[in-house]
Amino acid sequence: MSTNAYAWPVCPRPETDESLPSWFERVSHEYTMSPVSLLGVIERAESGRAGTAGAPDAGRLLDRTIADRLAVLGQLSGSEINAFWPPSTGWELHDHGFSVYCPYCCFNDFTHGRTPYGRRCWQQSWCTICQVHSIALVHRNQTHASSNRSHWSHAKLKRDRAFLASVRYRGLKVTHEPAVRSSMLSCLMHLERTAAAAISGSAPNQWIWGILTADEFLAVLTDVTTWSLTHFESVRSWSAAEDLTPAEEQEGYGLVGRYRRMSTTDYGDHQMTRTLRDVVSPKVRGAALWAAHAFMATCHSAASDRPSGPSAQDRQAAWISRSPPAARHWLAERQESWPSAHRRDRWIEVWKLL
Ligand SMILES: [Zn+2]
Repeated sequence: MSTNAYAWPVCPRPETDESLPSWFERVSHEYTMSPVSLLGVIERAESGRAGTAGAPDAGRLLDRTIADRLAVLGQLSGSEINAFWPPSTGWELHDHGFSVYCPYCCFNDFTHGRTPYGRRCWQQSWCTICQVHSIALVHRNQTHASSNRSHWSHAKLKRDRAFLASVRYRGLKVTHEPAVRSSMLSCLMHLERTAAAAISGSAPNQWIWGILTADEFLAVLTDVTTWSLTHFESVRSWSAAEDLTPAEEQEGYGLVGRYRRMSTTDYGDHQMTRTLRDVVSPKVRGAALWAAHAFMATCHSAASDRPSGPSAQDRQAAWISRSPPAARHWLAERQESWPSAHRRDRWIEVWKLL
């Protein structure tokens, strides 16, 4: 196909809450190409060169020149352009593909005669739960992410093991539910709603999270999740977030989980830490957010076999004292930048554990 024409002859219209990689994947399907191949064609047409250095990367969909080209090819309206290329929240996943989905949202798409599409909020690193369906998001594996739209069928969705894990929580009463798994879901939903509101500028509830502005809350949340996801040892190990107890692993099946034992050297490019934005798996991000809830919220229902006390400080001491010295050093340094009143009222002094 040629991209020299002013507009694509066939182009699906974007849904109002659709993410850019999802729409681009649907466009690619119309031309029986993978998103990577179509992006390569556009880039070559744009640069006038025979090829580009390296394989096309979905992140380049955000480049200004590619964005301008896509706006013309797709005949996008002003509001569609603004929706696809919004100002950064600072929380977008570094993976720019359509990598995460909610099975029930996709079932709904079928019901309404649509090809399942990716919602913009699923690209946010704080988002591991669908707030509409109270269900964990599912990692879309490589075979799903192919250009073959036939993946999206009821039968295939229902056979997805990750989906089956996720639906265990469907139908459970989310609030005031004594079961640990429901408490976990409730904690994650609450924290994720609070993070979304803070990104929009709303300060968190003072009784639950302490006296923090929206930006201060997000800064502490970033530090705590980064700490819990980072491997501070030279030997391969679980990150603190992934070092789940047997009860947490069982009760949080589908909500929180592990990827693999890693060390800092696995990150590459001289990267020393791993943030929520670096992790695609909703379950691993969920584990980090679960730990953050334990550290930051006034009330937190721990799984039965995690030694801790009733206060946030008890939980902080229990988790942090088990971490390697380098991890404690890192968190103690980060603590220096937090509001002093918040540290005094809500936190242990991590340097005392060094
Ligand atoms: Zn959903």
